[in-house]
Amino acid sequence: MYSRLRSNFRLSIITLLGASAVLGITPFALYRFWQGTILAGLIDLSILVSICGAVVYAWRTSDTYRSGFFLAIVACGGGVAVATVQGEVGLFWLYPSLITSFFLTVAPVAVLINLAAVMALIIHGAAFSSHEQMWSFVTTAIVVSCCAYVFALRNENQRARLEQLATLDPLTGIKNRRSMDRELTAAVASHRRNGLSYALTLLDLDHFKRINDQFGHSVGDEVLVEFVSLLERHTRKSDQLFRYGGEEFVLLLPGVDESGLQAVMNHLQHSLRRSLKSPAGPVTASIGIALLRQGDDAASWLARADEALYQAKAAGRDRIIYAEALAPVTVAG
Ligand code: GH3
Ligand code: MG
Ligand code: MG
Repeated sequence: MYSRLRSNFRLSIITLLGASAVLGITPFALYRFWQGTILAGLIDLSILVSICGAVVYAWRTSDTYRSGFFLAIVACGGGVAVATVQGEVGLFWLYPSLITSFFLTVAPVAVLINLAAVMALIIHGAAFSSHEQMWSFVTTAIVVSCCAYVFALRNENQRARLEQLATLDPLTGIKNRRSMDRELTAAVASHRRNGLSYALTLLDLDHFKRINDQFGHSVGDEVLVEFVSLLERHTRKSDQLFRYGGEEFVLLLPGVDESGLQAVMNHLQHSLRRSLKSPAGPVTASIGIALLRQGDDAASWLARADEALYQAKAAGRDRIIYAEALAPVTVAG
């Protein structure tokens, strides 16, 4: 439970709102019933029940987008209802609601919800005792919403930037090893669930160290970037490329049959031989391939591809080795 709260910001806000609602609204709801203002008491009670329902839904389904959106509407709609019934006392409830909208849903949607709440209050008008009070409220509500909007945008930009830093390789721009671990685990789960076939290809540049030693690290970097660009040009959109580390890359191919896989890999190897170059001449790669098997997990699958790559190196480099024997490719005609 604690780890879900730590890793899911929106779930933690939804839970915080639920706890605040129970602690903050319950006494008011009871007080209103005790006072005999039944309508206000019922409004408080329905806000409370809706918030608790949304919190339970978020925990059970992990769908924080829908529950957050619903809660933002309940919080602002509830604030409008309380202000309409209670007058200026209720207006104070609008401010926290206007701010939490930005934590509960995406910024443009929060703007629309807040705008709708303020417009509803202006059109109904019953919440205000004078025009001056109404325009003071409108102005302060807009200032509060603008500040929250800027903060939410900045927060979202930083989150996106952090996500990029955590998942992409800065030199080549492709996904890094952390992303690879996640995708391999997802592929294993999809294979178990739907039987979808996957091939894992481990590619390692041959004698790459020599390029660095002879021409410097920056030339080595250029070769790595060109290698990635070639791989991207010769693979499908659904194939995923990861930088495993150094000059080793993983290509994950979903939905391939054995003959299709061999054709793709042979074509890729030819293209590399023809096009990948350093100042000293052609650069080649050794390739180890493992098909995902029943009973594999990500580690055992990767280990078989690694073993095949090791054999490709040991056999003289610039070749493709499959971890398991594949059906021979039949050539038409
Ligand atoms: P082999 O054919 O056996 O694979 O030989 P190799 O020289 O390619 O293999 P080795 O693993 O010994 O060398 C890999 C080199 O890749 C060593 C390291 O300096 C270099 N390297 C790792 N990351 C980078 C990088 O980001 N840029 C550059 N230019 N070089 C890198
Ligand atoms: Mg190498
Ligand atoms: Mg290597």
